[in-house]
Amino acid sequence: MSAQSNFPYPIPEYGSEPYWAACNKLSLVMQQCADCKNFRWQPAPLCTFCSGEEFAWTPLSGRGRITTWTTVIHPVHPAAVERVPYVVVEVELEEQAGLRMLSNLVGSDPDSIAVGALVTVDFVKQVPGQMLPVFRLATP
Ligand SMILES: [Zn+2]
Repeated sequence: MSAQSNFPYPIPEYGSEPYWAACNKLSLVMQQCADCKNFRWQPAPLCTFCSGEEFAWTPLSGRGRITTWTTVIHPVHPAAVERVPYVVVEVELEEQAGLRMLSNLVGSDPDSIAVGALVTVDFVKQVPGQMLPVFRLATP
């Protein structure tokens, strides 16, 4: 069994199935409250702002800014040995202040990363059958 197949992978469950299905269509979506219109992340049955139950899975631009990052040099899982070093970023998406998600930043030298840098979402096939969202530095 290769390291690729041993890598931890998402299991669509607990209402997150539409999110993962959208990733496979190369679309970043989040739940948008039908009442207050705020987005929420991670998927949840109630709005974290108004406790509303109704929502729509809404496509996002995939654009945002880096709020913090780290370079992982010590593999935390045996399947990650061949992947280090890699960059984990927190991105604030442009649709809403405070709407932040964790992901990987790919395709950039860690020395070129800065808080506030513009990024765009991309999708990579990290495990069979599931595309995962990652970010790349946006070209000005
Ligand atoms: Zn709400």
